Amino acid sequence: MNKDEIIKLDSEYLTHIYGRIPLAPEYGKNATVYENDGKKYIDFTAGIGVNSIGIANEVWCRAVSEQLGKIQHISNYYYSEPTVMLAKTLVKTSGMNNVIFSNSGAEANEAAIKVARKYSYDKYGTGRSTVITLINSFHGRTITTLSATGQDVFHKYFFPFTEGFVYVPANDISALNDALDGSVCAIMCEVIQGEGGVNILEEEYVKEVRSLCDEKDILLIFDEVQTGIGRTGTLYAHTHFDVKADIFTLAKGLGAGLPIGAAVIGEKCKDVMKPGDHGSTFGGNPAVCAGANVVMKTLLSEGFLDQVNEKGDYIRNTVKNFGFSCIKEVRGMGLMIGIQITLSHKDICKKCLSEGLMILTAGKDVLRMLPPLTISYEEIDNGLDILKSVLSGNN
Ligand SMILES: *Cc1c(COP(=O)(O)O)cnc(C)c1O
Repeated sequence: MNKDEIIKLDSEYLTHIYGRIPLAPEYGKNATVYENDGKKYIDFTAGIGVNSIGIANEVWCRAVSEQLGKIQHISNYYYSEPTVMLAKTLVKTSGMNNVIFSNSGAEANEAAIKVARKYSYDKYGTGRSTVITLINSFHGRTITTLSATGQDVFHKYFFPFTEGFVYVPANDISALNDALDGSVCAIMCEVIQGEGGVNILEEEYVKEVRSLCDEKDILLIFDEVQTGIGRTGTLYAHTHFDVKADIFTLAKGLGAGLPIGAAVIGEKCKDVMKPGDHGSTFGGNPAVCAGANVVMKTLLSEGFLDQVNEKGDYIRNTVKNFGFSCIKEVRGMGLMIGIQITLSHKDICKKCLSEGLMILTAGKDVLRMLPPLTISYEEIDNGLDILKSVLSGNN
């Protein structure tokens, strides 16, 4: 089928919930994507941070298909080796205690919110269920995680939203203090806001949040759906800030392209959930977990995270050295990169695509890169050349 036919069928038969960009890739390898007419694109998006070890990674493909050939799914009434192995790796690498698997970031956050509310209810009874989140955050698209998302544009049409969410500005400890009125059970935040514009929280702030939480027995939840799984050059981004979470959530990069979410639970909440309190038909699916085990093994192999940091620094330095006045700031950690520009980010994103580069936007004025962690320097250079020429034509 050619691209026009695909686009026509999409428009006819899919509900129009996405503002799609006219690209219909057929196959790819690592960070390079091809359409069926052979047109080639460099991928700085990784499917929004999902294809963490690239497209069609051979070890991952083999592990998933081997598991599919053994048993593709078995309900959560029974036990599964790939699932327990993945949970063990997540626990051992984070210093946490146990894991609830689901199928997406939003669901992982739902699980974390349920754990937090039950912890508080079990200990303090009713009236202590508020979850504080940050302005410009993004936590998902379910009715509850939309409520948790601190952006007014997401609080339309679908009323009534889940109650019990309060938003405070990031990096403002006194605003947070004022919001702690005795009804609060948890604070949930991304240590680097992804959709909000690659905004890094101040280390001092994160540490103060942690100590306020300790003081008042409030749970600290980090939404690491985008930042986790090596994206920022450490396995989990909150370790950059030298703080511990009570619960943190993962999704995007963990499955490397198959759907999975995880709420990783620490000491305080390890026994809060009992049989019957939560569940998911697909959560922790053996084939998905077999792939995720390859992701974790790859990330833990010697030198892997160092090269994520080196590539991130290389990209940030190269973009800074373009020396363009349309670039206001280049920021990020590891391979989570934001370029704040004075031009229309959507416009630049479209122009890059027509020149053969896939790139993301974030916030109001940020170009965002979330390439596969395995991207080669050749792919990086090809992509940066395209970005440079598009920006120079608009500088
Ligand atoms: C993408 C994202 C989500 C939502 O994940 P889904 O898998 O789309 O439900 C939640 N939180 C953050 C920080 C994200 O980047």
